[in-house]
Amino acid sequence: MLSKIQALLAAATALWAFAGHAAPAEDEPIYRDVAIIGGGASGSYAAVRLREDYNMSVIVIEKGDRLGGHVNTWVDQATGRGFEAGVQNYIDLPGAKEFFARIGIPIANSTRAPNEQVYVDFTTGQRLAGFVPPQPADRTEALRRYLAFAEQYVPIMEPGWWNFPKDGADIPPELLLPFRDIVDKYNLSAAVPQIFATTGFGMHDLMGSLALWVIRSFNVDMVRVLLGINAGFVPASRRNQDLYDAILARLGKEAVVLSSTVATFAKAPRKSRMKILGVANSATGEITHRFKVKAVLFTAAPAPANIAPFATFLSILPDLGPFAAFKFSATHVGVVSHRALPLKTTLANTRSESQPARYPLSPPAHPFNARFENYADSSVYRVMAVGDENFTDPDRARAVVETSFEKMMAAGTIGTENNTTSTQDSRLEFKYWQPHGLVNAYIDAEDLKKGALGKIHDFQAYYDFYWTGAAWSVHLTTGLWQFTDTVLERLVGDLKKIWG
Ligand SMILES: Cc1cc2nc3c(=O)[nH]c(=O)nc-3n(C[C@H](O)[C@H](O)[C@H](O)COP(=O)(O)OP(=O)(O)OC[C@H]3O[C@@H](n4cnc5c(N)ncnc54)[C@H](O)[C@@H]3O)c2cc1C
Repeated sequence: MLSKIQALLAAATALWAFAGHAAPAEDEPIYRDVAIIGGGASGSYAAVRLREDYNMSVIVIEKGDRLGGHVNTWVDQATGRGFEAGVQNYIDLPGAKEFFARIGIPIANSTRAPNEQVYVDFTTGQRLAGFVPPQPADRTEALRRYLAFAEQYVPIMEPGWWNFPKDGADIPPELLLPFRDIVDKYNLSAAVPQIFATTGFGMHDLMGSLALWVIRSFNVDMVRVLLGINAGFVPASRRNQDLYDAILARLGKEAVVLSSTVATFAKAPRKSRMKILGVANSATGEITHRFKVKAVLFTAAPAPANIAPFATFLSILPDLGPFAAFKFSATHVGVVSHRALPLKTTLANTRSESQPARYPLSPPAHPFNARFENYADSSVYRVMAVGDENFTDPDRARAVVETSFEKMMAAGTIGTENNTTSTQDSRLEFKYWQPHGLVNAYIDAEDLKKGALGKIHDFQAYYDFYWTGAAWSVHLTTGLWQFTDTVLERLVGDLKKIWG
């Protein structure tokens, strides 16, 4: 027992030492203007801007042991080369390159040699010999039609949901149709494999999803890149994590607590508008810090587990709107290797019913591994396991990837040429494996019709809470930065009015 207490104390002390504070948690809370919950794409960006452009003090409270969220860079220690399991590249939207320059991260064009695509039904492990992918010219034309369709809705969907109809009855009816109806209406079937491979695999059910959520996930900026109208870029180092490591170093110990979550939340005494946050080590639950803040910028997914510490305050709202209505899917990403996997090839999980060219059929049923994608000039592969919002156990997700591999081995789709079917050789090696948490927030048609999304920004400023992150905007880093700018403007304006 004693050693457990000592271990907890040691963990708390270590975290305290990182935060660079002399006072223990029970002392007078440490003052910061804004607490930022989550240090992913939007939280890290917001922290830099609030401090440097608005002269505000911040504390970023991040559950993980680094900043960066969905960035998952695995670095091969033997060569120093980075392999991106999560975020791949950044779309060149206004302000994005300037932000990299500000942080001191040189950038390069994002170019990749295409892999050969091999279509395999991962439920059987069988190669789909009869599957005929769309011709490139047909795919391009279908993407153009998709872009024209999606662009109509940009004014009410970006940035964020600020201009979305308040009344559910005013939502354009097309947005509430299942995507398969839109595919029929606009003749988009030749674009479906591309949409699935780009972002659609992460949705709960691409073809059954409402058109609204497909546009949200496969947004116009991505389509413009695929059509060569815009371009993406990457850090010149080819390690996306470099940006966030540089942000961590720049913000310094006084502005970030890692491996931490908010455990308690209370109003400050004596009629103050300040809020007091008790911050705990995310592994031990031990309270390590208390912060007194004017406002909270919440950037993590607004899922029950994340908003639990604040629920008492938020439930004062007559209608919990998006908090009650949001649903998510969950993804896990990794880097694997095995000599039976083919080089320069992507093994893409495709239903056998899709043969010979029936693209709009439903994607694989949850949970599934989307593909084994060989990174250029390497013998390692990107894998991605996807499921519904209960699919959060990393071991279960890893087993889904292993099973898809074993099925291909058993079916002889891979491994026969290299004589690698012995038990010893059949184990897939995981170089890296990370849960991505809850992604692709969506709301069902019934709740949308009740106005759940139109009311979403009524939550901004409520109880001095402000909201950003992928659930409130696009699932795209640089688009999310643009949306975050609009929230920061509101937050800073409000704080000036209240506090002078
Ligand atoms: C597989 C995949 C590939 C992608 N590829 C690209 C790409 O190539 N280019 C691109 O622009 N976008 C890409 N995206 C989208 C991009 O990752 C997201 O748009 C962006 O990361 C979302 O930023 P965020 O701040 O909302 O969330 P995140 O980046 O996920 O950050 C949320 C942070 O909050 C932390 N957190 C969660 N709960 C708590 C809590 N209770 N307390 C404290 N902290 C908490 C998490 O640890 C995380 O660090 C990809 C997404 C996925 C899933």
